[in-house]
Amino acid sequence: MLIDNHNRVINYLRLSVTDNCNMRCQYCMPEDGVIFSTSKELLSWEEMFLLATAFIELGIKKIRITGGEPFVRKGLMDFLHRLATVDGLEDISITTNATLIGEHIDALKKLNILNINVSMDSLDKARFNAITRRDYFDVVLKNVHQLLQNGFNVKINCVVMGGQNTDDIIPFINFANDYNVDVRFLEEMPFNGHSKGFDGLEWDYVKIMGLIQSQFPGIRRMQSAPSSTSENYTIENRKGSFGIIPSFSRTFCGTCNRVRVSAKGELQTCLYTNESVSFKKLLSENPDTALIKPFIYAAIQSRFKNGFEAEEKTAFKKSMSLIGG
Ligand code: SAM
Ligand code: SF4
Repeated sequence: MLIDNHNRVINYLRLSVTDNCNMRCQYCMPEDGVIFSTSKELLSWEEMFLLATAFIELGIKKIRITGGEPFVRKGLMDFLHRLATVDGLEDISITTNATLIGEHIDALKKLNILNINVSMDSLDKARFNAITRRDYFDVVLKNVHQLLQNGFNVKINCVVMGGQNTDDIIPFINFANDYNVDVRFLEEMPFNGHSKGFDGLEWDYVKIMGLIQSQFPGIRRMQSAPSSTSENYTIENRKGSFGIIPSFSRTFCGTCNRVRVSAKGELQTCLYTNESVSFKKLLSENPDTALIKPFIYAAIQSRFKNGFEAEEKTAFKKSMSLIGG
C-alpha cells in the first residue's frame, strides 16, 4: 500500500497520454500558438506501460487515462489492451472530449473499460462550439448517446463559467434525469495556459448549489467514497444525479488519494504545484520497475498538505492539457 507523508492512501493515478488536443476549450488552452510536445519528448507507449506497472506494483488500483485528448494519440487502444492485463489494477477509466471515441466503443466494451467521463460544457450547440472553439457539438452528443446505449457508465463534466454557460446548469440537471446519468459541475481553475484572464472565481460550489436548490426542492446528498472530489446529490422523483467538484475551493485535499503523470513522464503529486519529478530519462536508461519504484515512493513522501500550500510555494500556471485535470 502506498501511503503519503500526510497518512493518505494513494491508490489512484491519472495518466496523461498526450498533451495534444483537437479542441481549444477556452478554460484550458489558447486558440493559437499552442506548442505540443514532440513524439520524442513524450514517453513511448513502452515507457508508459513500464511506469504504470511500477505504480501498480506499489499499490495503485485505479488508472484514469486523460490528456490532452487521449484518443488523438495513435496506439492508445493497444496500450489499453496491455494495461488491462496487469495484475492488481482494478479499474481503468477515461476522461475524453468524446469527439473520437465512437469507433472504439466496441473495443472498450470488450476490455471492460466502461467508466467514461465526457467533458461537455453546454447543451446549446452555439455555446458549446464557442467554448471549445471547434464545431464538434453534434458528434459529441451522438457519441454520448452511443455510449449510454451500450451500457457505459458516463459522467458528464461541465466547467461552470460566469457569463458563459451558467444557463446550462438547469438543462444539464434535466439531461441527467432524461438519460439517467451523472452530471458534475466543476469550479473553473486558473489553468488555461494564458487563454484568458482569471480574476478569481465567480461561480463557486455554493453559488452553483444555490441555483440548483432554487429550482429543485428535495435535493438529497448521496453517500460518496471518502476520497471523492465531488459532493453528489439526487433529486426526489428524478433519475440520474448531479455532483459539484470544488476544484478551486479545494475542500477535498485532506482525503486526496491521487497523483498525476504527464505525457512526458513528469510525476506531479498535487494539481496546484509546478513541481514534478521527471521519469523520462530514468525510464530510457533503466527500463526496470524495480529501479523506478524508489523514486516514485520518495516523491509520494514529500507531498504538499493541500493545494493551498502547493500554490503558495510553487504555483502551477500552465494549461490543464499538460496534466490532464
Ligand atoms: N480532453 C479530455 C477532456 O476534455 O475531457 C481530457 C483532458 S481535460 C484537461 C480533463 C478535464 O479537465 C476535463 O474535464 C476538463 O473540463 C477539465 N479542465 C480543463 N481545464 C480546466 C480548468 N481550467 N478548470 C477546471 N477544469 C478544467
Ligand atoms: Fe482539449 Fe480537454 Fe483541454 Fe478541452 S479540456 S482543450 S478537450 S484537453
